[in-house]
Amino acid sequence: MTRSIEIDSEICIGDGSFTIIAGPCAIEDYRQMEDIGRFLSDLGVKILRGGVFKPRTSPNSFQGLGLEGFKILNDIKAKYNFKIISEIMDPRDIEESQNYIDIIQIGSRNMQNFSLLKEVGKTHKPVMLKRGMSATIKEWIMAAEYIRIEGNEKIILCERGIRTFEDYTRNTLDLMSIPILKENTDYPIFVDPSHGTGRRELVFPASKAAKALEADGIIVEIHPNPDKALSDGFQSLDFERFKDLYKKLT
Ligand code: PEP
Ligand code: MN
Repeated sequence: MTRSIEIDSEICIGDGSFTIIAGPCAIEDYRQMEDIGRFLSDLGVKILRGGVFKPRTSPNSFQGLGLEGFKILNDIKAKYNFKIISEIMDPRDIEESQNYIDIIQIGSRNMQNFSLLKEVGKTHKPVMLKRGMSATIKEWIMAAEYIRIEGNEKIILCERGIRTFEDYTRNTLDLMSIPILKENTDYPIFVDPSHGTGRRELVFPASKAAKALEADGIIVEIHPNPDKALSDGFQSLDFERFKDLYKKLT
């Protein structure tokens, strides 16, 4: 039985419903977030994603707006009444970020950053723990244990693909982790079809498969103009594609 997580009186993750979270890879500017906010709110999406601290492979790539990004996110949150999920990479940012975000995202690259896990374990915020790109399912469950043992049991696991020899896709989405985790844990399970495939044309089939396998939801990257996105544009859906996905899966 999945342990459900109440985000507020109207939003519950893991209660048998299929939750669709969407937003850009990174917060870029107010205009981008206003466009996205209006679009998602009209559609009925209730949880907005968006990175302000970006764990980029190259230190020369866009690193996110930092605290400035939280201010934009906060305006959009208030205007459209969203709940917010955003990645925290540094324990020093946890305290300030609590004012802005409702779900803390731990990224793939930090799945085994044990000091970070312990610190988020001391908060009362739900935590989405993404699978390390080279982590086994057992290692991933043990990483969740680092959070749980500190007292925070509001954990969502997110399958986002692993590294294999296959390079047609950015990562290999290990969909079998869904039934395996359902059998072995009681955490809600999400799938990230964007990082899991790295190709926007595969986001819908991956999402459909996640739903068929009874995942509790998906977290999807979108952008008003994916080809101009400052990060992960190639795997981001434009509004039309996302609307289509949303209508088919809700
Ligand atoms: C992201 O969600 O934008 C992200 C960086 O994901 P991951 O940690 O899975 O690579
Ligand atoms: Mn991304």
